[in-house]
Amino acid sequence: MKKLLSIVVPCYNEDLAVPKFYDEVVKVCEEMEKRWVVEFEFVFVDDGSRDRTLAVIEDLHEKDSRVKFVSFSRNFGKEAALLAGLEYAKGDFVATMDVDLQDPPALLPEMYGAVENGEYDSAGARRVSRKGEPLIRSFFARIYYRLINRLSKVEMIDGVRDFRVMSRKMVDAVIGMPEYNRYSKGIFSFVGFKTKWVEFEHVDRVAGETHWSFWKLFLYGIEAICAFSTVPLVLSAVLGLLFCFIAFVMIIVIIVKTLAFGDPVGGWPSLICAVLMMGGLQMMALGVMGQYLAKTYLETKRRPIYIVRRTEKDL
Ligand code: UDP
Ligand code: MG
Repeated sequence: MKKLLSIVVPCYNEDLAVPKFYDEVVKVCEEMEKRWVVEFEFVFVDDGSRDRTLAVIEDLHEKDSRVKFVSFSRNFGKEAALLAGLEYAKGDFVATMDVDLQDPPALLPEMYGAVENGEYDSAGARRVSRKGEPLIRSFFARIYYRLINRLSKVEMIDGVRDFRVMSRKMVDAVIGMPEYNRYSKGIFSFVGFKTKWVEFEHVDRVAGETHWSFWKLFLYGIEAICAFSTVPLVLSAVLGLLFCFIAFVMIIVIIVKTLAFGDPVGGWPSLICAVLMMGGLQMMALGVMGQYLAKTYLETKRRPIYIVRRTEKDL
């Protein structure tokens, strides 16, 4: 029986990259058809692009009926686009990859080979070098991964991209996680399954530019920590306890000192410091709690993760 491999591609303002991506991938697919009994479906998810991305994809669909698409009513973010693609894909195997060719399609055969015979449930690509990236960003990335792995039981591996080939079972497991705050890296890791890692060197974008500023990455990082760890809540409680203990010891010291040496007025500066520090810590703990509360609030609203405006069935 012919197996169907769906290739899911989130696109946001990528009218220059889409045709290049399509050409590259089709070449690789032809190679794969020689090796395996496999056919393909390309699911482009247009994440509310404001340029000609949708038109470009529709043209591709005219030429090649294997090209399917889902177009959102506005920009919902890459995580939403990935979910929509996974839900839409009908394949026995599903691959997810970026449209900017930073996920080299040349790796597809190797990744497909690992899952095709059932040996692995998923194959993921791992970027082993970060060259071409600002040094400061690599530095923070490294610290960040160390931090999140300490905080979360779900393992997050540095350099892992959203470039994967998955079996139907794993795809269904990923779709079955209905959370609103989606952090794919964590979700893929959470569902488990046997994963093979394929390593590769950093590749630059073919066209357009990245949608991630440092600030956006920072917020995304915090989001990920909230989504996969509750340790910050425990930490604020522990800090509170620690400072209570310190205060208690200091009270005793002061009482003893006063009894022994009388009561000269002094220590105002240190008092103010202590007050400020406690105030700061309290605000911080409140902020941490607020983060989780906000996430809970958004989850309980049960808003749709994405809204579809158009698919190829509407043509
Ligand atoms: N993307 C998306 N929605 C967004 C932002 C990005 O679907 O709101 C897509 C984008 O078109 C690309 C992929 O996600 O296919 C990765 O984006 P980008 O290349 O900007 O991220 P980077 O590779 O720099 O991490
Ligand atoms: Mg990219």
